[in-house]
Amino acid sequence: MQSHLSFAHFHSEEAAYAYVEARLWPNGPVCPHCSATMEKVGRLLGKTNRLGLYKCYACRKPFSVKIGTVFESSHVPMRVWLQAIYLFCSSKKGISIRQLQRTFQCGMKTAWFLGHRVREAMRDLGIDIPGPLGGANQVVESDETWIGGKAANRKGKIPPKAIVLSLVERSGKVRSFHVPNVTAATLGSVITANVDRASFLMTDDAPVYSGIGRWFSGHGSVNHSAEEYVRAYFWHTNTVENFFSIFKRSVYGCYFHVSEAHLHRYAAER
Ligand SMILES: [Zn+2]
Repeated sequence: MQSHLSFAHFHSEEAAYAYVEARLWPNGPVCPHCSATMEKVGRLLGKTNRLGLYKCYACRKPFSVKIGTVFESSHVPMRVWLQAIYLFCSSKKGISIRQLQRTFQCGMKTAWFLGHRVREAMRDLGIDIPGPLGGANQVVESDETWIGGKAANRKGKIPPKAIVLSLVERSGKVRSFHVPNVTAATLGSVITANVDRASFLMTDDAPVYSGIGRWFSGHGSVNHSAEEYVRAYFWHTNTVENFFSIFKRSVYGCYFHVSEAHLHRYAAER
């Protein structure tokens, strides 16, 4: 049995650097300052040098694989970064900052820093990938959900629930957005900016979607109020609803309270 937790890159700093370098530099090291490669860059192997340090002979500057990544200017060992990323990616219900702190036996500040950098990177993966979701012959489901605890569990003034709009490419990518309201203008601007026009858009039968749907090559809507959840194999919004159920479980089951300011980060994690 080969447990993922025994991988060398989770335990040895050298293996951790080799792991990250192999992924970011599949064709060998690249100088982040001047893009020099091959024989123009060399590894600094002296005992006094930090691990993973390279020198560029073209621009004469030192560099490591950390420059320009989430690992930049952090003193957290690379193997701990990889452990943190593994925990985030492998936990269906998410990892709380407190849990990171207990697992790594580190201070709250370090745990917070690690957690938010990893979430930020995952958000970028979801939202900043060039190009829209979907395309010809692809279905993109869109739905909104309201996030916030029950009024009875709260002290004092009840803050309004936060709205999350998620766009899910069937068996593909997910993008989630924290939106201020569910008007046609708000949803329309997010959806048209993120979904390829050639896609088939699948939604519930909320009236706001009838106009937005015309923008796409096709639009299907499911009448939830009439309990018509799955009209046919193809005609449903179960993918996005399934996403929401996992997302909500992670918010309620793990984070307890998600502040509005950070909601988009948690949404990106799924
Ligand atoms: Zn250079």
